[in-house]
Amino acid sequence: MTIKYNSLKSLAFDNSFIRELPADPQSANYRRQVFGACYSIVKPTPVLYPKLIAYSKEAAALLDLSEDACNDDEFVQVFSGNRLLFGMEPYAACYGGHQFGNWAGQLGDGRAINLGEVINSRSERWTLQLKGAGATPYSRNADGLAVLRSSVREFLCSEAMFHLGVPTTRALSLISTGEMVERDMFYDGNPKDEHGAIVCRLAQSFTRFGNFEIFTARNDIKTLKKLLDYTIHIDFPHLIGHQNIKEELTWQSYLKWFEEVCIRTADLLVEWMRVGFVHGVMNTDNMSALGLTIDYGPYGWLDNYDPNWTPNTTDRAGRRYRFGNQPAVAHWNLAQLANAIFPLIGDVEPLKDALNLYSARFKDRWQTMMRAKLGLKSFDSTTDTILINQLFTLFGIAETDMTLFFRKIASYDFTSDWFKSMSQISEKMALLKPFIESYYEPSQLTEEYLFKIVDWFSSYTKRLEKDSRTYKDRQDSMNLVNPKYILRNYLSQLAIDKAEAGDFSMINRLLDMVRSPYSEQPENEEFAVKRPDWARNRAGCSMLSCSS
Ligand code: AMP
Ligand code: MG
Repeated sequence: MTIKYNSLKSLAFDNSFIRELPADPQSANYRRQVFGACYSIVKPTPVLYPKLIAYSKEAAALLDLSEDACNDDEFVQVFSGNRLLFGMEPYAACYGGHQFGNWAGQLGDGRAINLGEVINSRSERWTLQLKGAGATPYSRNADGLAVLRSSVREFLCSEAMFHLGVPTTRALSLISTGEMVERDMFYDGNPKDEHGAIVCRLAQSFTRFGNFEIFTARNDIKTLKKLLDYTIHIDFPHLIGHQNIKEELTWQSYLKWFEEVCIRTADLLVEWMRVGFVHGVMNTDNMSALGLTIDYGPYGWLDNYDPNWTPNTTDRAGRRYRFGNQPAVAHWNLAQLANAIFPLIGDVEPLKDALNLYSARFKDRWQTMMRAKLGLKSFDSTTDTILINQLFTLFGIAETDMTLFFRKIASYDFTSDWFKSMSQISEKMALLKPFIESYYEPSQLTEEYLFKIVDWFSSYTKRLEKDSRTYKDRQDSMNLVNPKYILRNYLSQLAIDKAEAGDFSMINRLLDMVRSPYSEQPENEEFAVKRPDWARNRAGCSMLSCSS
């Protein structure tokens, strides 16, 4: 089917969320607890001098928008919140959440304003949401605004994740507001004025675990049921066939839904582990009911493989959200969602079974993912668990760049015969040559380490030979799962440093780079390198605060 490219004026809205779900009866925009409602009507706050910094043409295509439409002044006015299109009905959603393991009560869209739901030419539903467009009833004591640095990070990472094949909310546009926003970045009593910005995000739905939790916490089972019925009807219609949206669903449908959320979440977590992504704030209000990566805040990408690393400075003490703990936290979060829908199911056992489904699915998909990263045809539990664990142990002995190492391993082509013919360790070391660039500390390449890694390569070689796969076939398949280009923290920071000085060129260059993470990009070779030394302990590169 050919897509007819639209201008903004021809976007077709169908605002089901506000049509089908109960609204906050109050329309004045002041901070409050909102009861018995899924959302509050609220308009974006106009901004003084909006300027388009970047847009994603792939995200625009989801709305059937042409690049001409994105470069039109109308686009800047609409996606800065200054103008509403016909059919837009802005609102902020009510949700709660567990933050760092504790129930935090009402949170809600404190600085996100949904503009409406577009139905595109493929009949897909895309909710448009501005992040940083001003205060809402859910803003608590904050301002509802967002600064340039965090907006650049959200914009680029959303699109980077999409191109990597990781489920995610999308980013349509990045617009500076021309207004300053005060932030105390490290919460140390040194507030500074920063440039304000707004990202327009897209997702089939922005519903989070916390949207359900809030109603159960308030014993408002009636609204809980309405939200879950709605969510299944709109976002999970395959679970119920074509039923009328007004039809009430039964506990069997709720259970099927929860099982699917468990499966999707497991698959999402496997993807994060594959590419070395650390979300940084896996609170239940930041967990998408659709299994998408959502709310890009103090996230980070692993440079050297370190399962204990957390990018979030607020998480430094407990490291709850460290890379290696993410699958367990997702399970914990799913258990909170199970508690939230328990009143609609009335039986603990099937919910427990569904949570076990998460664990089983995660294990299964993780093994499949790891064997793909290593270029193995299928997972052999007698050998491969040990092989993988040994490799991770080696990563811990000598700091190894995860992305570079896995990318390079596709070019590894030694045979067992070669190992036999090379009797000296010094001869066998030839195999490490392509990997040298993946190491951060040459002093860690001790003799003991070298013996161990040569040993590992020897086992790996034998394992590859069991598969009798051609080198080319293995290499091609590995290059589809081991990216060459990721949005390293220091790269985003370089783009932010320039943007804060008024030069947005690197944002667009990185957007271009993240479009083809698995391809060779000779013009971007300089970005496919390990984190430089200056970035090891720099704010924004290895430490991110929640301030945004
Ligand atoms: P986060 O940790 O970014 O997921 O945010 C947790 C809660 O705080 C959500 O309800 C956000 O909407 C809200 N929030 C974060 N930053 C702001 C802000 N600058 N203004 C208003 N609300 C905010
Ligand atoms: Mg959030």
